[in-house]
Amino acid sequence: LSHINRLVYRHTGRFMLLDLATQRHLELVSSAIDGSSRGTLLSVLDLTRTAMGGRKLRHWILFPLLDLSEVGARHEAVEELVEDFPRRREIRSHLEAIHDFERIVSRANLGTVNARELLALRNSLKVFPELHRFLIPARFPLLKGMGGRWDDCTDLHGLLSTALAEDPPLTLREGGLIREGYHAELDELRHIRQEGRGWIARIEANERTRTGISSLKVRHNKVFGYYIEVTNKYRDAVPADYIRKQTLVGAERFITPELKEYEAKVLGAEDRARTLEYEIFQEIRLHVSACTRRLQEMGGMIAELDVLASLAEVAHSRHYTRPTMTHGDALEIRQGRHPVVEAEGTDAQFIPNDTFLDPKSQQIVLLTGPNMAGKSTYLRQVALITLMAHMGGFVPAEEATIPLVDRIFTRVGAQDYLIKGQSTFMVEMSEAANILHNATPKSLVILDEIGRGTSTYDGLSIAWAMVEYLHNEEGKQAKTLFATHYHELTELSSLFSRVQNFTFAVREWKDQIVFLRRLIPGGADRSYGIQVARLAGIPLPVIARAKEVLAGLEAADGKKRRLSPGRSKGGKEREDVEQLSLFSSAPGSLFGEILSLDVDRLTPVEALNILSQLKAKAQELRGS
Ligand code: ADP
Repeated sequence: LSHINRLVYRHTGRFMLLDLATQRHLELVSSAIDGSSRGTLLSVLDLTRTAMGGRKLRHWILFPLLDLSEVGARHEAVEELVEDFPRRREIRSHLEAIHDFERIVSRANLGTVNARELLALRNSLKVFPELHRFLIPARFPLLKGMGGRWDDCTDLHGLLSTALAEDPPLTLREGGLIREGYHAELDELRHIRQEGRGWIARIEANERTRTGISSLKVRHNKVFGYYIEVTNKYRDAVPADYIRKQTLVGAERFITPELKEYEAKVLGAEDRARTLEYEIFQEIRLHVSACTRRLQEMGGMIAELDVLASLAEVAHSRHYTRPTMTHGDALEIRQGRHPVVEAEGTDAQFIPNDTFLDPKSQQIVLLTGPNMAGKSTYLRQVALITLMAHMGGFVPAEEATIPLVDRIFTRVGAQDYLIKGQSTFMVEMSEAANILHNATPKSLVILDEIGRGTSTYDGLSIAWAMVEYLHNEEGKQAKTLFATHYHELTELSSLFSRVQNFTFAVREWKDQIVFLRRLIPGGADRSYGIQVARLAGIPLPVIARAKEVLAGLEAADGKKRRLSPGRSKGGKEREDVEQLSLFSSAPGSLFGEILSLDVDRLTPVEALNILSQLKAKAQELRGS
């Protein structure tokens, strides 16, 4: 394990913690559909040119920084590379030539490296000085620092250039690894081998003349080494000094002492050359191993340079801007876009939207609106922009002020982990529990539908209580974006000062809806589910019948609505009173009466009477 040369502490406090659910929901590095990188943030940001850069970018996405000066240094470097297009282009084109030498160094240490890989290392080393040239004039500390720590590794490049053959085989024991002129003894052996081949060609010519057999051939196989082959036609012309080795159908094979003598020379030299080449190669390998530390340092820097150049390239081509990071609390995004939806958008143009979240005035944004309006996209967009800012990149917005965020929490959509024995609702609730336990005022919480996996009233109640908790509970007041199709929740904004309603504008037109994708203040008053169902192609008779059923349900619901924990104005008081008398334990209430019963002392008849009285009371309350 000599390539593992030190252990580094990864302080969890240095990085924003992104739990697995959040990584998955935001599709950071693997897609929710097939686990590939298609449609992920990584796929949009990854214009890296090296494998090492690709790995580093992945790491930056999954471990965003929490130190403002570190983040700022990355932003500066990206800015420097965005602004200097010629330099960026040169750097990126040189990076193209760099192989995954971190892996090659590991393999050199493990003894599994081959000559082609060392050649790839040599080719990579060749561009080190070129890259360095572009770092020397750097303006900002990050790139400047790299320039200062840079190591061209000229010695190693020199060694590999003079030692390695240009087109070596994959195997190490067959020769062909070492360049002519690198090692005197090897050159000598090669010379003998070369000469020996000439001798053998000459033996063939001489024997043809001596015997007059024009078709006589000197050949070689693994069993006999070199031999002379004569076809049966000339059998009688074979001289007496030939020693017969093998008889075939149409020919005979012979050896001669002279032939064997030369053979020993040639094959001996070949063997020795191969062994020697192997030994020389091992020496070179050990030399590479000895440079492990230096090469790993360089690998790290080149990967970082690659990532910065990639982020700059994306920022430039996609018109991202540098975010302003603060220690404050307010998050403000002007004309933000979803990086992936925008990049993949084939049809319509992406419509940008603003965001404002501030624990003092607008801590919780409640987003209502029909399915397909763009709620989920918007929620993820805010989370992704926040994350991109923390990883040191530019963001898809006209302007963004992003406060330091300790964690991004997401609870998104319905997902089943039936294999793990968890139903949709259970998954949803455990994710919600995680958020409520761990969110802090510095967190960003994204809730995309809560309580869908259970009955409407259950779900609505849980969603309601969660918003209350995030609003009221000291130490939990995270900046929250909450999208819901329960338009009843819009009432929360009249009860809680820091909850604000927003919705996505839709235009109704002859029973159809058109999505405008524009975020506007206010709440949606209906769900438009039937219109969306129609867009999706549900047969018209089903749509017509659904409308009838809905009208019926709404009429009935209007008459005997029970659950609305805080209906504003007129309705509110009466229902509150009603709930109180049903459930409070005050004397005189149903609860109170039940609690005051001494069951041990009741006769069966008394018990029945009380039960009948309680029922009458309950009926009366329900009818009122
Ligand atoms: P909802 O969560 O409200 O059901 P989605 O966020 O899933 O809606 O959006 C539905 C579709 O609309 C998505 O497929 C997305 O491509 C498109 N979309 C969403 N927001 C925008 C936008 N701002 N501009 C253009 N297209 C958008």
